[in-house]
Amino acid sequence: MSKKNNVQPISICWLRRDLRLEDHAALYHALKSGYPVLAVFIFDPNILDRLENKKDARVDFIHQQLVKLNQQLTEKGSQLLVKFQTPQKAWEEIIGDFEIKAVYTNHDYEPYARKRDQQIADFLTQNGIAFHTYKDQVVFDKGEVQKADGTPYTVFTPYYKQWRLKLNPFYLKPYPTAKYFKNLYQISEPSEKEKCSLPSLEAIGFSSSGAKFPPVNFKEKLDGYEKYRDYPAKNATTKLGLHLRFGTVSIREVVSEALAQKADKWVSELAWREFYMMILWHFPKTVNTSFKPDYDKINWRNNEKEFELWCKGQTGYPLVDAGMRELNATGFMHNRVRMVVASFLCKHLLIDWRWGEAYFAEKLLDYEQASNVGGWQWACGSGNDAAPYFRVFNPELQLKKFDPKMEYVFKWAPEYKSALLPIPIVEHEFARKRVLEVYKKALNEKAS
Ligand code: FAD
Repeated sequence: MSKKNNVQPISICWLRRDLRLEDHAALYHALKSGYPVLAVFIFDPNILDRLENKKDARVDFIHQQLVKLNQQLTEKGSQLLVKFQTPQKAWEEIIGDFEIKAVYTNHDYEPYARKRDQQIADFLTQNGIAFHTYKDQVVFDKGEVQKADGTPYTVFTPYYKQWRLKLNPFYLKPYPTAKYFKNLYQISEPSEKEKCSLPSLEAIGFSSSGAKFPPVNFKEKLDGYEKYRDYPAKNATTKLGLHLRFGTVSIREVVSEALAQKADKWVSELAWREFYMMILWHFPKTVNTSFKPDYDKINWRNNEKEFELWCKGQTGYPLVDAGMRELNATGFMHNRVRMVVASFLCKHLLIDWRWGEAYFAEKLLDYEQASNVGGWQWACGSGNDAAPYFRVFNPELQLKKFDPKMEYVFKWAPEYKSALLPIPIVEHEFARKRVLEVYKKALNEKAS
């Protein structure tokens, strides 16, 4: 595919975490640009090299979605162009091969992505190519829901109140991309087809994870959600996180359906996701510094042996162990259990929230930087709208309340059925007193 035999001006839609063709903001605008549209995806070694597990299920998932997208595009006479290079190198090649008028893509709010997009925007602009980006993965972003004085909300309840007030059908209107698929760039030349061919998982350094991915069946799950969502044995949540993360479902469709079913509690959970993305946008430093700076003065014990036992689910606390085993086996962990294991790591073991955040980032299928950092800082107490420092979850009470028949525990940690129970690595009352002392010392330092 060289410029010499390809002088037809085109637009490009750069796909990243929006792996679908329907109701897609950037694709819609590209298709209406007046130039044929080629869809592009870049496997970025800056991201892939950081993944130690070469059977990473998320890479496998992305690859499977690209195969599907490529099939859909091929049926429409086009194809997906996939690169395996740093974005800078990939774009140097793409602009060498095509006469590009403009590039269309969706906003990404993570610090690495923002830096990357700025670099690519500068590079393309220097080469006379326009770079347009759109809101797609959330209903409201950046400063769309903010306080009357123009500053960002840092507490969820008033944020959510505003979010709901602002929500109206205009924001949930789907982008009718299908109407314009005729404007996709048509590929018929064998040499062009060859150039576009999708690299295998092995060609990008990975192999199949064998993972079973949760289907998109949230519509059937919303009815009993509010009543059962806190009970891990009930399997009453939607497991939609993976699809929201990679954009294999549209947030507008999801919110519209939830409103139609009056699933208000679930809508508020989706708003938590947007709240954390908004926080990450305004406070990007919080990916590795505590939102409340005093929390960075905590004298963490950071005992490596205890961390390992936590990772393996061998703490002697049934709910913590079951949760970690579920995570290790499936890449998923129930929200209630995420809160319990995270609190246990930071408060019972006095291990830095960043260690836990990194472990979750490696394992979670639905890993989302904004929500993960937000969830960890919430559990540790350092976050913007966090659990107070003196609230130390009692893992035994949490078990009694949310898994009273120990169905969830027995599924993931069957040794708790035995009469000879594992010994807890730390006694609850001792750990509670210890964390209160250590936290108090750090948090009072400023005043003293
Ligand atoms: P459902 O309960 O069916 O909710 C639907 C969707 O709403 C979720 O998929 C998610 O996108 C969003 N959502 C629900 N609860 C929350 C929440 N508390 N915060 C933000 N969004 C929410 N969520 C992630 O998507 N990625 C993460 O990496 C992540 N890490 C977390 C780490 C910790 C320590 C904690 C306490 C929570 C974390 N969460 C994370 C939030 C929450 O646990 C998951 O979103 C939820 O368990 C996913 O299951 P589900 O898809 O069945 O959710």
